[in-house]
Amino acid sequence: MSALPSLPDAPSAHGPTSAPAESPLALSSEPAGTPERLSGPRRALVLFVVQGLPLLGFCAGVWLFLREGLSGLDLGLLVGMYLLTMIGIEVGFHRYFAHRTFETTRPLRALFLILGSMAGQGSALLWSAVHRVHHANTDQPGDPHSPLLGRRGAWDGLCGFFWAQFLWYLDVPAIGRFGRLVERHRASPADLLASTEDDQAHRFARTLPDLLRDEPLVRLNQRYGTWVLLGFALPTLVGGLVTGSWAGALRGLVWGGLVRYYVVQQVTFAINSVGHTVGSRSLNSRDDSRNNVVMALLTLGAGWHNNHHAFPGSARVDFRWWQVDLGGLLLRLLARLGLAWDLRVPSPEALAARSDR
Ligand SMILES: [Zn+2]
Ligand SMILES: [Zn+2]
Repeated sequence: MSALPSLPDAPSAHGPTSAPAESPLALSSEPAGTPERLSGPRRALVLFVVQGLPLLGFCAGVWLFLREGLSGLDLGLLVGMYLLTMIGIEVGFHRYFAHRTFETTRPLRALFLILGSMAGQGSALLWSAVHRVHHANTDQPGDPHSPLLGRRGAWDGLCGFFWAQFLWYLDVPAIGRFGRLVERHRASPADLLASTEDDQAHRFARTLPDLLRDEPLVRLNQRYGTWVLLGFALPTLVGGLVTGSWAGALRGLVWGGLVRYYVVQQVTFAINSVGHTVGSRSLNSRDDSRNNVVMALLTLGAGWHNNHHAFPGSARVDFRWWQVDLGGLLLRLLARLGLAWDLRVPSPEALAARSDR
């Protein structure tokens, strides 16, 4: 493992050439700017697709449970697909694509991209761009999903929490629009990175100099729709094959596809809401990120969110012996197998410098 250097005292995430010492990436110096708001009907459509449809899918699961209960296969598909897609999000999208906290083989990073895409939270590029903007502006103007920004009092705070959990994606570039922008510049990503266009999609794209220049990665990224469908097709197929029936296939779709999709989405979005409001802080991270053990278990480590914001470039987030980081454990296993290397971790001095105690 390679140690991260210790941290400067002054915030540096906004400097164009000064990558924050805690992250190997140079985060964008550009403010995220005013979001380009969708018109009323389009906003309602996005809201329905991102929240309404998955909620209906979850309700289908509740209905099925009340009618017929839950079989071992149902539970296996739900938990198995949850773990696969959460690994894609936390280890793949978050620790690899967004933060580049380790290196891995080409087949494995392709697998991470596909598993993360199956969670249906946007392509690896868009997810990484949103997340890099979040780190560059955490709980400050420009943060795409801070529950705290500009909120005063209990009721306003509750509205902020609700917004960060359920509505924030309405104010970031739409998946289709961002995908078309990347597609237009596939042959010449340098043009996109050098563009002076001031709209939000261009500004977000400019946070991805490393990823946009990676042609094989962009090619896989642009098949996002296929990977999302695969996330539903896979459990349907397994359910059908194991039971040898269409009813089994349908149950596979409901538990491994629809219910899993909704639960993974809500747990991931809770990092935006709960992760910045509920829990403890033990490291100085210049924001309001929190460590929360329940969130940490559900998200395979992302819930040690104060730890992560203190050292976003770290491949591990378990900085105390009792903190369980399942994503970090998987990475250490992959490292043992020679499938991951250069896992970046903060030095003991850097950790001590950031500790509140
Ligand atoms: Zn955060
Ligand atoms: Zn992060």
